[in-house]
Amino acid sequence: MDFGIVLLLAFFGWLAWLMLKSKSSDEQFHCMDCGVDSQPTIRAKGSIWIEVVLWICFIVPGLIYSIWRLSSKRNICPSCDGANLIPYNSPAAVKHRKELSS
Ligand SMILES: [Zn+2]
Repeated sequence: MDFGIVLLLAFFGWLAWLMLKSKSSDEQFHCMDCGVDSQPTIRAKGSIWIEVVLWICFIVPGLIYSIWRLSSKRNICPSCDGANLIPYNSPAAVKHRKELSS
């Protein structure tokens, strides 16, 4: 088997592992914008379709685009789409909940 193909397969495996790993978070977050406590939605910038087209047509831009999307993944509030999420038990979250309930 050609070494390049082995390397490519190993890379795809690594990419798939990265994508799966980032989805398996069951940590609770508090939203500083709307005050909701929930598991965040993980969203990457860009589009999966551009990524697929780039991969099919040109390997190198596809690779760069995939890495950019993975690095741009962030937690989004499922209620208001805000990115202002902090850990559920952090002091700022506890304070914010108190302010909202009073
Ligand atoms: Zn929110």
